[in-house]
Amino acid sequence: MGSSNLAHAETIKPRPTDLQLVALNGMFDEKDGLSVLRHALDGEVSGASIAMVSSFGADSSVLLHMVAQINPHQEVLFLETGKHFAETLEYIEIIKKQLGLTNVRFLEPDTKDVERFDPKGNLWETDPDSCCHIRKTEPLDAALKNYGGWVTGRKRFQTNDRGVLPHFELTTDERVKVNPLAYWDNEDVRAYREAHDLPAHPLFLKGFLSIGCAPCTSMVKDGEDPRSGRWRGKDKTECGIHFDVSGKIAHPTVEIGQKAMNLFKDGAFVADPWRDLKDGEALTDLDHVHIPLKTYVEQRAVIDANPRDLGLILVPGDDVDALGEDAQRFASISVAFPTFTDGRGYSYARLLRERYGYKGELRAHGDILTDQVAYLLRCGFDALTVVNEATRKALEDNNLGEVSIFMQPIGASAEVPVGTRPFLRRAK
Ligand code: SF4
Repeated sequence: MGSSNLAHAETIKPRPTDLQLVALNGMFDEKDGLSVLRHALDGEVSGASIAMVSSFGADSSVLLHMVAQINPHQEVLFLETGKHFAETLEYIEIIKKQLGLTNVRFLEPDTKDVERFDPKGNLWETDPDSCCHIRKTEPLDAALKNYGGWVTGRKRFQTNDRGVLPHFELTTDERVKVNPLAYWDNEDVRAYREAHDLPAHPLFLKGFLSIGCAPCTSMVKDGEDPRSGRWRGKDKTECGIHFDVSGKIAHPTVEIGQKAMNLFKDGAFVADPWRDLKDGEALTDLDHVHIPLKTYVEQRAVIDANPRDLGLILVPGDDVDALGEDAQRFASISVAFPTFTDGRGYSYARLLRERYGYKGELRAHGDILTDQVAYLLRCGFDALTVVNEATRKALEDNNLGEVSIFMQPIGASAEVPVGTRPFLRRAK
């Protein structure tokens, strides 16, 4: 069978068995990428054609050069997310011309999805998993419907997560992922590029070792993991189409629209752009990360040097007065309510709002009962991350009940608490 694009007319035959894949992986020498690719594109791996997908990134020229040797008319799929560097789009034209590739197909996101979920074009910032889902996973999923699998440029050395990558992987949706360069390292790639005089991506020459969408790609420093420039500062290392070695083309575990909708703000649950600092995580390059007060006190100089939006975590026992007006440095402060009986968080909120004039987001996080919500809002909280299911349901249903009287005054309100009304004062 030749390597033409047969996929759309074919009926998919059953995928190879686990045992067949083990045998297949055993058949190929560790670095024989061209043989692996030829075997895949010639239809020898799966009952249906294997698609060629390329990011036209830093290392892509190697695989594309191999494709051109096997069949320059092979369809090459490119995910045009609408967020690429101009240099990447220029590079596609350079590569096409130099290698004689005639069939590069752009896969674009559904415009209705973009309008609905990313009307401002900043979903990459607030919810990058969902952004990748509508711009990459969905378009690729649709394009690969009738293929038996696809080729990737992934390599073992790129990250620890990819350390066990084989040439051929079974996916749980009855397909095969082919990784011809799985065993290659930087030196192999460099030597191949040099031997075949392949043009480098313009940004590679400027220190971008792994190149994806512009908002989510940054330069890599000496000694850093080559992919550390992707989604820097965010809790994300993969775009969702390569989530795990054995997984299918990944979909978020929950539907978009519910994904990470844990933050209750302005009357609705929304995607939470923030996460908490992980144990042992480096403090440089963080973005939208809540940092414990203790860490802030110990590493203030490093944290204050970061110009991005950072948040703070306050737990019962923290000294808010010691923080004082430095609270303004944080775009969000998350106050922990480990149990509903611990009310210290209310005092923290009032101190921050009333004594120190804190204007940023103030969120209550934890075991919060329905009846507490009104009091939290009254003390200055304007966001909630609720773990109590009943409270979450009440918030969703707007069924919180009304609190008509308050026994204690608050400074930031015109309310007159019970017991301080004029007639009661006169009765004293
Ligand atoms: S890499 Fe960034 S901009 Fe591109 S689709 Fe993913 S989140 Fe969006």
